[in-house]
Amino acid sequence: MSVGTDKTRTTGTPVDVRIMTRAELALHGIRLDAPVKRPDGAGPSDDGHVLVDGANAALPTNPASPYLVRDGRVWLGEEDTGVAISPVRRPKFYDLTTVDGVRYEQLARLHGADVLATTVVQTCIRYGESDRCRFCTIEESLRSGATVAAKTPAQLAEVAEAAVRLDGVRQMVMTTGTTAGPDRGARNLVRSVRAVRAAVPELPIQVQCEPPGELRWIRELHEAGATAIGIHVESLDEEVRRRWMPGKSTVALAEYEAAWDEAVRVFGHNRVSTYLLVGLGEDPDELIAGAGSLIERGVYPFVVPFRPMRGTLAAQDGIGSPSAELLRYVTEAVAAQLRAAGMSGADQKAGCAACGACSVLRTAGG
Ligand code: SF4
Repeated sequence: MSVGTDKTRTTGTPVDVRIMTRAELALHGIRLDAPVKRPDGAGPSDDGHVLVDGANAALPTNPASPYLVRDGRVWLGEEDTGVAISPVRRPKFYDLTTVDGVRYEQLARLHGADVLATTVVQTCIRYGESDRCRFCTIEESLRSGATVAAKTPAQLAEVAEAAVRLDGVRQMVMTTGTTAGPDRGARNLVRSVRAVRAAVPELPIQVQCEPPGELRWIRELHEAGATAIGIHVESLDEEVRRRWMPGKSTVALAEYEAAWDEAVRVFGHNRVSTYLLVGLGEDPDELIAGAGSLIERGVYPFVVPFRPMRGTLAAQDGIGSPSAELLRYVTEAVAAQLRAAGMSGADQKAGCAACGACSVLRTAGG
């Protein structure tokens, strides 16, 4: 049986089954061996990369998931959900090595089908056990040898050129661990953007960093050629911030607001985004209202479920993901606000909101 798009669940509330299925896939994952994976790294993802109904999706690969793949569709046991799925092919650039012997795969990874992602500096001043964000594993991929601590601008330019030429990559995401200087990592991003744009001038790039201590870095990033910027707060709730991000929460929300406003001024409306994580214990209606205030500022709230990745402090503490119903509720409400404001993730041109794989927003029309 094929499942329709609208159905009434036991609550009597109409539920869009496609959004609910996508939310459940994001949380429970799928029984599938995906050739393109992101085992650990910065931020809250830990996934196999697939296309769900033709759109990028980062789903946990989970042999215990009730969802499985048959004939290119997602099945829930014997029920065909009607959702199409295909794995992302291993890109050709993974097989190349720089002249100094570093595998391209250690320098940048394919996210979704067409996003090149790199963590320019793979260490973070906040990674000490008492300061670290409880959902993050930025230095774990370094310990496992999957990546290298710092990527040079020349290395990134070399990989980006190959990824565009060989694998049709259409946008690039550059993130960084927080560094000790007042730029908090923006300086390295400026150099890297400049080098990549010189090698592949048409490739849109999103940069991601904490609010730089000096706001002039936002203009420098734009002038270097970045198309979009992510300044990720993860939660607007002060108590949640202190509990989940002891180090990062020492940067006041007022600093984030000043950085977002400057970024919207420099990069433009809907070229700035932030992550909001669902499942950190924040009141869902406050989260939705906070997303609304970000949208009013011209900032795209990229709503993503918290998932306890291997190697995180949260996983060690046995903290689980949110329910699919909570994720659906928040995602649908934020998507409706985005639509009302005429903001779409695709219009960011580069970055997580443009990729959409780690969120259910795209399925919900955001
Ligand atoms: S949404 Fe961002 S982190 Fe997730 S796969 Fe896309 S680019 Fe990577």
